[in-house]
Amino acid sequence: MLSHNLGYPRVGSHRELKKASEQFWAGKISREALQKVAQQIRRENWQTQKEAGIDLIPSNDFSLYDHVLDTSLMVGAIPERYHQLIDGKSNRELDLYFAMARGIQRDGLDIKAMEMTKWFDTNYHYLVPEFVKNQKFRRYSDKVLLEFEDALHQGIVTKPVFVGPVTYLLLGKEKEGGFDRIDLLDNLLPIYISVLKELSARGAEWVQLDEPGLVLDLTEKEKLAFQSAYSQIREALPKLKVLVATFFDALEENLPIATGLPIDALHIDLTRGAESFKSLLEDAAFVSSSKILSLGVVDGRNIWKNDYQKSLDFVSEAVKVLGENRVFVAPSSSLLHSPYDLDLEKNEEVLTPDVKNWMAFAKQKLKEVTTIAKLAGTDWASDEDFIANQKAVGSRKNSLLIHKPVVKKRAAAIKEEDFERLNQFSVRQAIQLEKLKLPLFPSTTIGSFPQTDEVRQLRANLKKGTLTLEVYENRIKEEIISSLRWQEELGIDVLVHGEFERNDMVEYFGESLSGFVFTQNGWVQSYGSRCVKPPIIYGDVERPAPMTVKWSSFAQANSEKLVKGMLTGPVTILQWSFVRDDQPRKDTAFQIGLAIRDEVVDLEKAGIKIIQIDEPAIREGLPLRKHAWKTYLTWAVDAFRLSAAGVADQTQIHTHMCYAEFNDIIDSIAAMDADVITIETSRSQMELLNAFAEFNYPNEIGPGVYDIHSPRIPTVDEMIYLLEKALKVIPARNLWVNPDCGLKTRKWPETEAALRNMISAASLLRESV
Ligand code: GLN
Ligand code: ZN
Repeated sequence: MLSHNLGYPRVGSHRELKKASEQFWAGKISREALQKVAQQIRRENWQTQKEAGIDLIPSNDFSLYDHVLDTSLMVGAIPERYHQLIDGKSNRELDLYFAMARGIQRDGLDIKAMEMTKWFDTNYHYLVPEFVKNQKFRRYSDKVLLEFEDALHQGIVTKPVFVGPVTYLLLGKEKEGGFDRIDLLDNLLPIYISVLKELSARGAEWVQLDEPGLVLDLTEKEKLAFQSAYSQIREALPKLKVLVATFFDALEENLPIATGLPIDALHIDLTRGAESFKSLLEDAAFVSSSKILSLGVVDGRNIWKNDYQKSLDFVSEAVKVLGENRVFVAPSSSLLHSPYDLDLEKNEEVLTPDVKNWMAFAKQKLKEVTTIAKLAGTDWASDEDFIANQKAVGSRKNSLLIHKPVVKKRAAAIKEEDFERLNQFSVRQAIQLEKLKLPLFPSTTIGSFPQTDEVRQLRANLKKGTLTLEVYENRIKEEIISSLRWQEELGIDVLVHGEFERNDMVEYFGESLSGFVFTQNGWVQSYGSRCVKPPIIYGDVERPAPMTVKWSSFAQANSEKLVKGMLTGPVTILQWSFVRDDQPRKDTAFQIGLAIRDEVVDLEKAGIKIIQIDEPAIREGLPLRKHAWKTYLTWAVDAFRLSAAGVADQTQIHTHMCYAEFNDIIDSIAAMDADVITIETSRSQMELLNAFAEFNYPNEIGPGVYDIHSPRIPTVDEMIYLLEKALKVIPARNLWVNPDCGLKTRKWPETEAALRNMISAASLLRESV
């Protein structure tokens, strides 16, 4: 039984690619030096996979920035604005590539980057292909051929990986009206076919075409496109073995399309789409064909050890129906979404051995795949690897580190009224108006202030132990005090303490909650050179002690003005962590919700009258299929409400979200019932508010009046313009004035200038009504 891998992380085990790219962008190293680092990583990755015993090792899964961008370069889908960078010299290809990825502003050029968006429901971001009417494609980059050759020199005949043609089109965007991008398929396919032919001529036996588009809701035309694409590929390349990979969800109604494709192997994700498995084995056409079924049994997107028993059950069932030669074993998806190597976690205080023993990162997952393939068909119960695996998996099932009866009992006792504030919003609003005495159009910020190197150094030194807790806390207090004086001087109505003590809005809370662990090197690529190191939620979540009360009450004690308490919401904490796979996400979200609820109640007790619970990640959690949205949104909204509803009517609950689409989930946002919501809107010139207006959104709203992602200082006039636009759709008494998001990535001078203008805009507006 063959084992194969769909893709490997590519930033390097110590983020070598990140470092080299950033140095290259800064002009500090040559393109040859960058290419060398890249080649080194690819070779190491191939070697690692070879040593693990993977039969079909991928190539072209590597990317200097993003594999969808690589595809755009391969097929010459280069938007017009970059054409001046095409000059035929191959050493310029890199400049063009990074200009598309990051924009370019030099030598008299000023070209914006391509848009970036999330890769399905992962935290990886890709560059959105741009299509025009009658888009022509042509072969441009030969990256896939070069990488195949490079591996060949190392004695490895790889299985080149592509974003499949239909998914590639689905991922893109029409940049003008009058056509449907799926109609570009016939223009696009000759490019794929020509590349595939060349690969085949150079000795490729297998290719992998990733078509996760098959797990989405598709139109009839899109469904037909799959059939057409693969028939054409088959016709042009009767001998090349084609594996179509689907992942991240079940095939559902697209199953007959997938099974009907004239291909050699179909890969399915058994960690997220196990129901496809049963249907496939009952699909007479598939069973009677000679097609191979690739079983994605090892989770490519989480860090838990595989349960061999469970995986071997899947494999045995498939073998029973299809025979041994028609089954492959693989990870569920590319391992791009896993950290590199668990063996690099050497600090036992950070990651204790018992918890570590429940985990597997990319390198360990390779071994899991090959072990499962090895054990299949044998008498595995007595195998050493199997026994060790079952021991680890079993110890996790019952560990008291994970299972805390008090937490479970409390979660089980949640009642309907725990989700409800005492009175409805209109009643609360009247009470808050009287108690908080805020002016019309109150001004505030979203929480964080510029994080200077000095502040970062403080936290780092505390961690390293070169700074005592006392000195550290005194320095943070000084920062808070000076930011309070500064906010008062600017004339902001609702102050914040500035979040100087926080490294990251999720990590900070994870570090204070039980049930979380952290890694030292568990980096996962988010986009380009940006990597994140998500916390790991391994057990029942509990709040052993207050987490923010000390800082918030210190701040409140040092100002006459209202200071907002600042928390991260349960869905965002869940979404930006590796989560448990031994209980539904909902249960974990509720446990976190209860912990945050306790914090909210404690803040109220400490005299904090306004509390913000940030939920920027609610939208990201949406399932890929529309029919599953409702279930998710119901528990996500409930988790937030659970965290917020423990306080009296007079305590004002804020939430904050910074993403750009509210239309299709506006009813859920309203159901969160925050007294005030601050949102990102400036980049859309307040267009996004229309969703709130059309819905008759009843609660208070702070639509961001300027974009914090740029150092540009907004003028008073443009902010008044935006606020007046907002006033057309929001009642005056409901309108707040604030930036789009937190200010931690900005510098102090520009922040001061921008906020000064913002406050002027608010007061001018007040005078004018
Ligand atoms: N309170 C956080 C901050 O200001 C919110 C960040 C976010 O929305 N991503 O930094
Ligand atoms: Zn934000």
